[in-house]
Amino acid sequence: MSSTDIFDVIIVGAGPAGLTAGIYACRGGLKVAVVEGGAVGGLASTAANVENYPGVEIADGFSLCYTMLEQCKAAGARFVFDRATRFDLGGEIKRVVLAGGGELVARRVILAVGASPRKLGLEGEDRLAGKGVSYCATCDGALFKGKTVAVAGGGNTALEDAFYLEKLAAKVYLIHRRDALRADAVYEKRLKTSGIIPVWDSVVRKLVGDDKLTQIEVENVKTNILSTLFVDCVFVAIGQTPNTSGLEMLARDGFGYVITDEEMRTNVDGVYAAGDVRHKSLRQIVTACADGAIAANTCIKSMMRTKK
Ligand code: NAP
Repeated sequence: MSSTDIFDVIIVGAGPAGLTAGIYACRGGLKVAVVEGGAVGGLASTAANVENYPGVEIADGFSLCYTMLEQCKAAGARFVFDRATRFDLGGEIKRVVLAGGGELVARRVILAVGASPRKLGLEGEDRLAGKGVSYCATCDGALFKGKTVAVAGGGNTALEDAFYLEKLAAKVYLIHRRDALRADAVYEKRLKTSGIIPVWDSVVRKLVGDDKLTQIEVENVKTNILSTLFVDCVFVAIGQTPNTSGLEMLARDGFGYVITDEEMRTNVDGVYAAGDVRHKSLRQIVTACADGAIAANTCIKSMMRTKK
């Protein structure tokens, strides 16, 4: 790739939204670069079992995303494995500056940068990350075979993590701040017949351990009673925050998610957003893919209209 290459579109992020955008944009005849600074597939690639992607009865997230990557490559997208650190999006020609020192230039940009797991915000959390605090059950679960673990959260991610860990660990606690789950009803039903121990109306208040986590302190938010759980790992699954660092020029909602119209257009001309980073009502692999397809289509149509 020469420094003078001008792409039609730079897609930032190679999760399901970005990869689908890449497939559609390439098939629409655009010259496409896809930038990814982390793992291909993003958070979706860490899902142990995907059971609600139509047409695929069950798949692990990594395999599903890997197939999307292969499709995107085969369609003709150029992949750049580097982190986008700065965005110059205001003009007709957009620039994406990379951590490695280079930059990419294009007429359009699709931001499919996703979201990252939210932290508990507790003292020692960063120090104990990888030593008994984890944000990815499928990545780290195997390290806790036969041990006692806890999952914090009550959404789909927390429940999927807990079911996955139940197959490996001796004991799994599910610590949720309310007495009703946010997760889908199907998971609520499955929880009742599982061996997972729910700890309702409770939050993790303290992480204890020097070199590794040994116990956590949990507070019942209704009674304010503190109790200790001796666990080898706490898997944090309390939601996500959008990856919008460097994208302050974009209109965002109160939680930081990028606001788009139905065609995935942001408030900046020629800049689109797709997937989990976008303000939307349902964050799923299937909706991320749909966003990516629409963003690419909008991009293709706008380039045909302006003939550039
Ligand atoms: P989520 O749906 O936002 O759930 C976050 C959970 O963590 C909620 O139960 C929330 O409690 C709790 N929580 C938030 N902040 C907390 C805090 N500071 N302390 C303690 N608990 C806290 O997040 P998610 O489970 O990561 O899912 C993210 C999105 O991906 C969702 O749209 C989800 O449906 C989707 N997803 C879908 C699938 C699937 O369909 N297979 C799988 C994974 C994720 P409250 O309930 O009280 O707010």
